[in-house]
Amino acid sequence: MTTPTRVLVLNSGSSSVKYQLLDMRDDSRLAQGLVERIGEGTSRLVHTPLQGGGGRKREKNGPIADHAAALKAVAEELAADGLGLDSPELAAIGHRVVHGGLRFTQPTVIDEEVLAEIERLVPVAPLHNPANLTGIRTAMALRPDLPQVAVFDTAFHTTMPESAARYAIDVETADAHRIRRYGFHGTSHAYVSRETARLLGKEPEEVNVIVLHLGNGASASAVRGGRCVDTSMGLTPLEGLVMGTRSGDIDPAVTFHLKRVAGMSEDEIDVLLNKRSGLVGLCGDNDMREIRRRIDEGDERAALAFDIYVHRLKKYIGAYYAVLGRVDAVAFTAGVGENAAPVREAAIAGLEELGLAVDADLNAVRSDEARIISPVYARVAVAVVPTDEELEIARQSYALVLDEASSNE
Ligand code: AMP
Repeated sequence: MTTPTRVLVLNSGSSSVKYQLLDMRDDSRLAQGLVERIGEGTSRLVHTPLQGGGGRKREKNGPIADHAAALKAVAEELAADGLGLDSPELAAIGHRVVHGGLRFTQPTVIDEEVLAEIERLVPVAPLHNPANLTGIRTAMALRPDLPQVAVFDTAFHTTMPESAARYAIDVETADAHRIRRYGFHGTSHAYVSRETARLLGKEPEEVNVIVLHLGNGASASAVRGGRCVDTSMGLTPLEGLVMGTRSGDIDPAVTFHLKRVAGMSEDEIDVLLNKRSGLVGLCGDNDMREIRRRIDEGDERAALAFDIYVHRLKKYIGAYYAVLGRVDAVAFTAGVGENAAPVREAAIAGLEELGLAVDADLNAVRSDEARIISPVYARVAVAVVPTDEELEIARQSYALVLDEASSNE
């Protein structure tokens, strides 16, 4: 029998499922899609066939009751393209799991014990892990014979030293409640730091990289020789950089103040800091395109929001430069990092003494390819490296399945 080479990647949110089917022989994408508003009357499935030059995007609107129904609908779309989930060519299903705690440092084949451990982590990831679990259980019911692999957002950061991972609070209290800095977006930081090394023509072990993952959620990481030594998100994805709707770093006393003086409840403060802060809280918009458009029209609130965003970013670049001691590259990625040239320019401006500079012409180029945007004379490379979390999940899942198969022979 030939070795199966396809991997289905599932990213299950509370009311959505994103998916991609990849062929690991050449990392090509066979299909991708999204089911959103699951459980609402107005659910929507968008499916795009991609094999052999691609096909027309298909959209279906109508109620999809739950994740099981969503996955069934996805399976039907894939089957219509001759890519059914019953295919013997499917090697594994790779699942994005947001929180793996300290236990999961590597991609892991899912069994009942692993499911129980992901469940045990729900208190530290109440929004994400339950949705991830639902997606996994649904996929397991659909193909119980197939390896299902969990790839954890936190795994890449488990190499952080205790000095970076611990908060300076009472140790017994912290340990009793598993309070520490876990970090997120790890799959992206892992992929981008490795791709940056490749772009420099080096091995990951040879380079120190600061990765700036700037999407709607945003995080920075300091990666020394392929291993993460610090990252900006913490116990939850709220800490660190200014994000689309999240505050990032804030004096924790602000929360007591809001409770005691403003009379807000914990839930209201949670919503304020996670949904009504960041760029949206500062200027009403969280899309960097819109913010730039407003700045061009002279809008002062948008300009201040941009300045606060960039100021925080610059502080993290400086901090991680100091953490690493020697930096070979600063890599920008995700929606803002890959597309917003003014953010890259402003974040690096004034850092010439650190060997950092951006070439205006290179920075203005639009491309889907990883590229260097610093001038040739700069000591440190500044790079734009498009992230690809699905490919990374597929690669890690496939490598694990091949590994297990060969050790069982
Ligand atoms: P992500 O979470 O990685 O999908 O990033 C989404 C964010 O990227 C959006 O909220 C925008 O702020 C930003 N973004 C996407 N495209 C562009 C663009 N062409 N120019 C500037 N920002 C963009």
